[in-house]
Amino acid sequence: MVEAKVRTELAQVIGFAGPADAPQILADRRAQRLENQMRLGSPITDPAGWLIGRGLPQIRLCAEPRCDDGTLLGSGRDCPRCEDRQADSRATTGSRPPSTPRCPEPRRPSVGRPPTGNCTRP
Ligand SMILES: [Zn+2]
Repeated sequence: MVEAKVRTELAQVIGFAGPADAPQILADRRAQRLENQMRLGSPITDPAGWLIGRGLPQIRLCAEPRCDDGTLLGSGRDCPRCEDRQADSRATTGSRPPSTPRCPEPRRPSVGRPPTGNCTRP
């Protein structure tokens, strides 16, 4: 079961990185996942299940087919699309323009009082 998963993942990595580097990349990936698991997660009670579900599969965070958890398979560099996405989220959460206050809805239309203030109508 685990062996079949290793073969599948290895074949995929070979497609990106070539047969020479693929085993090392897969081993590094597993080591990295294990490290994350130890740091953030709970102890692994089912090693085979963990390997199949978490330790071995590629984790694509964006539309880039070589993206593996924010790193490009083959080159080992940071995934540019993930970087773009992080920059985007920083930009949108960083400086948001102040929201314009909305006028309260008039209860009765046209009673002769024009809207006052700097608010905008939706
Ligand atoms: Zn990515």
